[in-house]
Amino acid sequence: MKDIFDKLHEHCALFGIYDIKEASNYVYLGLHALQHRGQEGCGIVTRDKDVFYKKRARGLVLEAFDKTDIENLKGSIGIGHNRYITNGDSSLVNLQPLTASFDLGDIAIAHNGNIVNAYSIRQKLISDGAIFSSNSDTEVIIHLIARQKGSFDERLVGALSQLKGAFSLVMLFNDTLYAIKDPWGFRPLAMGELGDACCFASETCAFDLIGAKFVRELENGEIIKVDKYGVNSFKPFKSENSYRCVFEYIYFARPDSYLWDNHVYEIRKRIGQKLALKSNVDADIVIAVPDSGMPAAIGYSQASGLPFEMGIIRNHYVGRTFIEPTDSIRHFGVKLKLNPSSDVLNNKRVVVVDDSIVRGTTSRRIVKMIRNAGAKEVHLCIASPPVTHPCFYGIDTPTKSELIASSHTIEEITKYATADSIAYLSLEDLKEIVGGSGYCYACFSGNYPVSLNV
Ligand code: AMP
Repeated sequence: MKDIFDKLHEHCALFGIYDIKEASNYVYLGLHALQHRGQEGCGIVTRDKDVFYKKRARGLVLEAFDKTDIENLKGSIGIGHNRYITNGDSSLVNLQPLTASFDLGDIAIAHNGNIVNAYSIRQKLISDGAIFSSNSDTEVIIHLIARQKGSFDERLVGALSQLKGAFSLVMLFNDTLYAIKDPWGFRPLAMGELGDACCFASETCAFDLIGAKFVRELENGEIIKVDKYGVNSFKPFKSENSYRCVFEYIYFARPDSYLWDNHVYEIRKRIGQKLALKSNVDADIVIAVPDSGMPAAIGYSQASGLPFEMGIIRNHYVGRTFIEPTDSIRHFGVKLKLNPSSDVLNNKRVVVVDDSIVRGTTSRRIVKMIRNAGAKEVHLCIASPPVTHPCFYGIDTPTKSELIASSHTIEEITKYATADSIAYLSLEDLKEIVGGSGYCYACFSGNYPVSLNV
């Protein structure tokens, strides 16, 4: 299974807008606001007078598109996508939106999530004679739609009903925009409005940038269709239990976004407060691993009374740690990005808050860095439970054997990280903070809500 899923992971940002002059400008800005969800590459497709205009390129949005590109992307309807690193396969063909033509017209599709039965569907399609041009699981959706019978909406429902796993989608079919969320609701997708225009984004921070109003999160299993007749919603799928990805709160989402009716910043702060209340560590200061540990460190400081200090400064002009495909470069990446401030750390007992430990590499480097800057004691405080299982629903995590907490006790991880202590948030506390049911906790529990045996 590992090999299959290593090839088919997708983790991304989506943006779509219907009926606004020079739509490409808004898609461009929306994708920029969502840059944290994927930095490997990006793409925009717009529609004007029966023609798709498209550009996909590697790298960050602001570098991938220049003024002429945006001007050339004509039309008042557009969708866009940021792609996250997968297994180092950064070829252009895997960038989205994917486009294709079939008997009913043209289709462009952008996907956030991971379809767990994509591989078996793909193998079946290939044995029936289908030809694939990417190794992304998203392409199976286009094939399935093209092979159904009936109207486009019937085909869409027929195709999507065959999928298992995580799929938030924005899609253009000719002049119609669709926004879709899978029946389990794994990945976020929100609707906004900007004057008379309707827009969709993975996170509400994209609406803030373009001045749109956040209307609501899509419901699980909802299809929203936007065309010249207006905005129509339908829920054609069998209803399923809700499994929203709790790791979005822990790490992935931007703290200024509203996600599933919660402000991400608030959730992270409450996690920090909870950690402080459970802590029995004596320390002088609390610091964060920037940026993702910041809100929890502030919460920790507020609840414990320990002063919050900027003990580590981040260089923002480097991609996220996971972007680099090989281990040796990843190690270098930590040094490139984070610099300890010895004036702050020297001779101090330090609580350092980070969002999660995945492989353990970052924590080990950070502890070393803080000690070298003169700290007397380093106590790691982790704003999530131990990550013991890989995600198969759209977060890029390594295989189980690479996850340090899958095979090591907290004592062993503490020793490996060379920390004086490590405190994790408990799963029970996390559930209490986010409100319990309705979430997927598989990376912490191994309970995969949608079967992987497909
Ligand atoms: P490591 O334990 O060295 O593998 O890295 C852990 C750090 O990577 C955490 O502190 C997070 O900030 C970050 N992180 C956690 N999950 C992910 C992910 N899925 N993609 C990229 N970075 C992540």
